[in-house]
Amino acid sequence: MTSRRQCKSSIRRVAAAVTAALAMLPSGTGLAQPLPAPPAWSSSSQVPLATEAAMAPLHSLPPISSASVQTADASATPGWTVRPAVQKAAATVHDGPVLVAGSAWRTVPYLVYGGTTYFGIWYLQQLLRAYGIDSGWNGTRLTLAGFPKPVAATVTVSGSPAPGVGALWVQGQAYVDVSAIARQAGGTVSVSGQAVSITLPRAAAPSPVSSGVARPVARTATVHPAVSRAVAVSGFQANGEVYVGSQLWRRVPVVYSGGTSFFGVWYFQQFLQAYGIHSTWDGKQLAIDDLPRVIPQASITVDGADPLSGAAVAWQGHWYVPASALTAAGVPVEVQVDDSAAGPGEGAAGGADPGAQDGTAGGPGTSANPSGVASGQTGPLVTLRGRLVFDGASYSVQQISLRDVQTHAHYYTDVQADGSFSIPVPPGQYEVFAAIGQGEAVYLLQPFTVPAGSPGQQALDVHLPALPQGSRLAVAHADVIAWDKGVSAMDLQSVADLFEHVYPEVASATGLAEQSRIQVTLYSSADAYKQHFLQEGYSAGEAASLAENSVAAEEGLNQISVLLPALHQTDGLNVMVHELTHALVATVSSAIPSWANEGLAWEMGVDAELDGSQDPVLTSAIPWSNWMDTLTHQRAGDLRPLGQADPLDTAYNVELQDYWAMHQLITRFGLPAVMRYVRAIDHDPDAFSHTFGMSFDAFANQVQASLAQQAAQSDAGFTMRLAVLAGGPDTVYITSPAGRAFQVSGLAPGHTYDITCRADGTVQAAAGLRVAAASGVGGPDGVWFVQLKTSGSLPWQGIALDDQFGIPYVVQAVLYDSAGQPAHAYPATAVSGGLQVVGLTPLH
Ligand SMILES: [Zn+2]
Repeated sequence: MTSRRQCKSSIRRVAAAVTAALAMLPSGTGLAQPLPAPPAWSSSSQVPLATEAAMAPLHSLPPISSASVQTADASATPGWTVRPAVQKAAATVHDGPVLVAGSAWRTVPYLVYGGTTYFGIWYLQQLLRAYGIDSGWNGTRLTLAGFPKPVAATVTVSGSPAPGVGALWVQGQAYVDVSAIARQAGGTVSVSGQAVSITLPRAAAPSPVSSGVARPVARTATVHPAVSRAVAVSGFQANGEVYVGSQLWRRVPVVYSGGTSFFGVWYFQQFLQAYGIHSTWDGKQLAIDDLPRVIPQASITVDGADPLSGAAVAWQGHWYVPASALTAAGVPVEVQVDDSAAGPGEGAAGGADPGAQDGTAGGPGTSANPSGVASGQTGPLVTLRGRLVFDGASYSVQQISLRDVQTHAHYYTDVQADGSFSIPVPPGQYEVFAAIGQGEAVYLLQPFTVPAGSPGQQALDVHLPALPQGSRLAVAHADVIAWDKGVSAMDLQSVADLFEHVYPEVASATGLAEQSRIQVTLYSSADAYKQHFLQEGYSAGEAASLAENSVAAEEGLNQISVLLPALHQTDGLNVMVHELTHALVATVSSAIPSWANEGLAWEMGVDAELDGSQDPVLTSAIPWSNWMDTLTHQRAGDLRPLGQADPLDTAYNVELQDYWAMHQLITRFGLPAVMRYVRAIDHDPDAFSHTFGMSFDAFANQVQASLAQQAAQSDAGFTMRLAVLAGGPDTVYITSPAGRAFQVSGLAPGHTYDITCRADGTVQAAAGLRVAAASGVGGPDGVWFVQLKTSGSLPWQGIALDDQFGIPYVVQAVLYDSAGQPAHAYPATAVSGGLQVVGLTPLH
């Protein structure tokens, strides 16, 4: 944009329809986005707000205390600590086997904590070692080197295409299926110890494969009945990390008990799935279809020539050797990887796919398996007996909202006159999200855990900070300032809480620090916000445009402006991190291109919005719901090339296109490389190509190609895996985007079900469920909606899903008030009535 100011002003745009709706909404109530009445559920209201979230978080964060166990005597310690601090908590452990290719590898202890099953990282490392795969564990980070990944590729042997010859990517090198090559040539592969001998007679008739793969030696294991014993948990780390080589695959929760670190079985299954390996978990044993076996230093002989040394991989009955080894032996082999978006060069994967697959592997395929419930929300409900503890003068609190850390489901409960409250919740990790007073709220973000196997009740103290006096609140890293009298004490406190909650993440992930204290100025109305921009020297038109289109702005090195009503409509964590990222980037670069600046701010902001959630359906839902705007304009053909649009001038949200591009860059090269680029921009005109080894134009073309490829996909519908949690319904209602209503009955708590929603508006459910047309059931237009009965004490609530460009994703959860009007809506994969979407798979 044009600006008289030297410093950049970065803008977060809000869909105009939403901005227009703001005036009608009470400010400050929102823990979410109150929606206009149902008719506004048209496609325009689904234009994503200026808040979104990224898929796989790709930066490393400091360990945080995201969980602490509440007892009557122990209060939560909100905020950030360097080491996880968890009091002794109840967990159980039982022994069970790990099976590989049908054979028992060994028996390992499985630890059950917070509804999730974990197994010892030491055992995982031993398992990988048995298959020739090195790994390291430093207490919070598991690093795997050279885990073979199948890639879709076209293999050419001696100049001729060789269909049916597969390829693996291992540590940046292409490996080819030499068993298939030998079979096609009528040759053989034989393996003895570390010696791989390949013969490739050119003229022989095809013969059956002699693969010679050494199957894992079956060990006999005595399978004991699963007897659980109670153990103490000494620590919990929500943000353990799994790296493949130098690439972060995903953050995972880690539990510490009895001197051993435990890793979630479900996450290991997700990891295997990303590498094309199927596994099942039935609550007692983990069965892995097959693992690739690596011989790190094989001797490879081709047609009796001198042996070459290299690694060889046995997988699914075939041997793979480096394409370079065959070429060196006189059999030229080329591997052209088909999946350009995945970019094989980084050798890591999983985070590379823009997410559809991420949501599909919601756990084992059986429909009765609770380990598919990503949140760990299994087991009977636990009634929280809460009380308010004021750190200073008390104030009116009428409602408390709790948020499930994984699913982001909100639980609202009224506070009694004596400051007590009571609410049943499933076991899991939570935050006391906010205390709601008269028409406004204070965000608290205080973590606590409800362990699985808890007694029926648990005490919960909610600590309420003393509200600031005056118009300014100084906290550790910021001054929060009220611009006008419409900004309340609760607003000041809320923004301070949000800021301090996310500051350590951003500083740590970017490696940047503020030059002077950050000044966060709050505006209670769009008019006040506009006045600010006028005072700063913007033209009337610019100021009006800024006030209308942005939630917040960053100006210079340490100034952040926040329009409060818009903040309450969007995700506050996302907004604060977005602007803070700009402020920190400004300390090292004034020449950073807008696309990189906005893309990075979005990436960081979305990660903050996820706030530690590892729920794969949520972590893909938030980015995709933002990118739909970009894909829509890609398909319409009015998207400008990356970096060439004026952010305030176009028909679409340019920042979301920037976010798509930056997400690809970070996925391929990692955040540290991106930060090296950011630091180099001001003094190296070729910083982009020097950092990433390609020109910016080449990258922009790849971004364009990836958008074109995704935008060309069509929607055939999807299958959702629905988990019914404790206290959940036996019947759900599903409405199609065109309003056809279905009743699906026969559900039971503790089970998961696959339900298919087809593009023609029909619904099909797993065996054992009954699907019937329903009458008198409505839902929002334009989206699929899974909703609960309105009978009993439960409010009307449901989960909206959409399916565009071949990507099914959760749009948001919606809670209605007693008059049937939407009261709260926010991205979440579960609702308090006991329903969770644990997987989404597109139909093709
Ligand atoms: Zn921005």
